[in-house]
This record gives sequence, structure tokens and C-alpha cells, in this order.
Amino acid sequence: MEFIRIWTEVDTDEVQENILIVDDIFGFCPSCREMGIKLENLKSCPKCNKNFKYVTSREAKNGGKAVDMVKRIRKKLPDLIFVDYSDYEYCTSRKKAEGLFGGI
Ligand SMILES: [Zn+2]
Repeated sequence: MEFIRIWTEVDTDEVQENILIVDDIFGFCPSCREMGIKLENLKSCPKCNKNFKYVTSREAKNGGKAVDMVKRIRKKLPDLIFVDYSDYEYCTSRKKAEGLFGGI
């Protein structure tokens, strides 16, 4: 089996709301900013109880090691959908821009 990236239409707010960010071996919850979350069998944030449906990692951004990182994370969190980090950045930057210009 090989890993390929599949493009799909998503609600970027929902992705942002339910994503776990993995830095090397631990997870980070962007909702409550909890760090050092253990990944094994992780379904929701131990601090704020947010359900995780998506996962991403800065280290899975392009480069040769990206696939290894994706494999490692997928093994620990097989139920989560892996989002490319550049796409996650795109979602968050778009939201930031909306925040800046919203209400004008
Ligand atoms: Zn949390």
C-alpha cells in the first residue's frame, strides 16, 4: 500500500475546529492550546474534550520525510483524516484574513 494525497471538498471551519497538530511524538490542541498530548488511542482533547477528526503535522510538509511522518501518525491515529499542513495553513490564514477585514 502506498500513500497518495486525495483532494476533497471540506468545511474549513470544521477542519480547524476538529484538528490535532502533531509535533514529532506529541499532540497539540489548537482549541485550548494544550501541549504534550499522548497520541495513542487519542479521540478527543484530554483538556477541553474537543473531538479530533483531522490531524496534521508541520513535519509532514513536503520533503522526503513527509511520508514517514504520515505513516507514523496514521499508525497511532488510524481514525483521523490526515490534512496536508500547507492546506491547514491556508485554512487558518484565510480565517485570520476574514477576522481582520470582517465587520468593515
Ligand atoms: Zn483542547
